[in-house]
Amino acid sequence: MSIVPPAPGAGILRMYGRGMDPAAYVLRDFLSRTVAQYLWTELVDDDGSIRALGRPLSALRFPVVILPDGDLLEAPDPTTLARRLGWVAEASARVYDLSIYGAGPAGLSAAVYAASEGVRVAVIERDAVGGQAGSSSLIENYLGFPQGIPGAELAERARQQAVKFGAELLLMREGGDGGVVDGHLRVALSDGSLMTSRANICATGVRWRRLGLDEEEQFFGAGLYYGAGAGEAPQCAGEHVVVVGGANSAGQAAMNLARYAASVTVLVRSPSLSKNMSAYLVDRLTYHPAVTILPNTQVTRLLGDERITGVETRTDAGDDNSLFATRVFICIGGDANTEWAAGTGLARDNHGLLLTGPDLTDQMLDGVWTRERRPFSLETSIPGFFAVGDVRHGSIKRVASAVGEGALAVSYVHRFLAGE
Ligand SMILES: Cc1cc2nc3c(=O)[nH]c(=O)nc-3n(C[C@H](O)[C@H](O)[C@H](O)COP(=O)(O)OP(=O)(O)OC[C@H]3O[C@@H](n4cnc5c(N)ncnc54)[C@H](O)[C@@H]3O)c2cc1C
Repeated sequence: MSIVPPAPGAGILRMYGRGMDPAAYVLRDFLSRTVAQYLWTELVDDDGSIRALGRPLSALRFPVVILPDGDLLEAPDPTTLARRLGWVAEASARVYDLSIYGAGPAGLSAAVYAASEGVRVAVIERDAVGGQAGSSSLIENYLGFPQGIPGAELAERARQQAVKFGAELLLMREGGDGGVVDGHLRVALSDGSLMTSRANICATGVRWRRLGLDEEEQFFGAGLYYGAGAGEAPQCAGEHVVVVGGANSAGQAAMNLARYAASVTVLVRSPSLSKNMSAYLVDRLTYHPAVTILPNTQVTRLLGDERITGVETRTDAGDDNSLFATRVFICIGGDANTEWAAGTGLARDNHGLLLTGPDLTDQMLDGVWTRERRPFSLETSIPGFFAVGDVRHGSIKRVASAVGEGALAVSYVHRFLAGE
């Protein structure tokens, strides 16, 4: 029997907190990416707190969440909240045909195809379903959605589809160290359990890159955000915001934020946007009255005290400037989530991306590859261990290609399982 968690979004919860509290931001972001409906109320004084929650600010640990059943949680993290909402299921089997790490577009696609073809499959996700795509305000270049679709909604549809076919979703736990034991792939999960499967697919994508400035930790959630801020955009009404980055994620963020903010300034390191951004986004940004694009510009310092108040910048010509900003969104790409692969025998490139199929040299396979045949095209240097989507060396960083690789990997999983 597969475990089907209740659909995220089944009930409305209420959240209360201080405006620039990083913990509140983390929860809001998690809930937005999970397509869960919630009502956020910012509390500014004791009167408001007593009216809303019956206690002064100092008598509560914020953020406070009131669950749909009326229970009150003080300062929960996303895992605690997800558990209380019943979204965290336990594995129902001891051994799966296939385990998939990461529930972004690539992992969800593999889950849909594998489960629909009768493969017993578990998907392990450390956070919200949807991966990077879940933070996109509007994906406009995915086939079949001419008006575009919010990334979180696309992910939620895929989650429902995977669960419908019998895939088990094991949320809020991370895959870590692993190896081959008695012919099975065994991976230690962050909740202390072990996941055993005959084959697995790594679809762990990338995580947001930091700017590398000293002040980043201080301002995280207090005006500084990583990613497109799809859930935060409505909070920016009338504000002056900065977006750092020159690729599609930065372009989408700027367009979405410009619906609410008084001004959006996009800081781009390269001389123009067109090098890394889709033409449709470049056009829209260029002609949007609220958007200003500053090319050849880097952030050198974040300004503020309790919350961000601006950024210092330097141009390629060496000119220093400062810019007033109430919020800053960093969208400068990502780094591979593969630190766990050190010592496993999995071959990675200089950026930590997993090498597969024809990219694997004899030297990389020496001592770890145990089959007569060469690795299949999406197979890593360990037999039965596949890698798809953004975490794979040479992949195209797009939703459609991640979905395509997820589906393709399942056909190789069938061949691998048939040959074992
Ligand atoms: C803001 C934004 C907008 C974008 N817009 C577009 C667009 O319009 N069109 C387009 O084609 N592409 C777009 N992209 C790119 C696209 O979203 C990515 O290429 C795609 O999401 C890659 O999918 P993935 O499944 O490979 O990885 P990801 O989406 O990165 O998903 C990886 C998942 O793995 C999980 N994970 C990581 N490590 C572990 C672990 N150890 N154990 C368990 N789980 C783990 C992560 O939490 C995450 O959920 C956008 C990206 C961003 C950030």
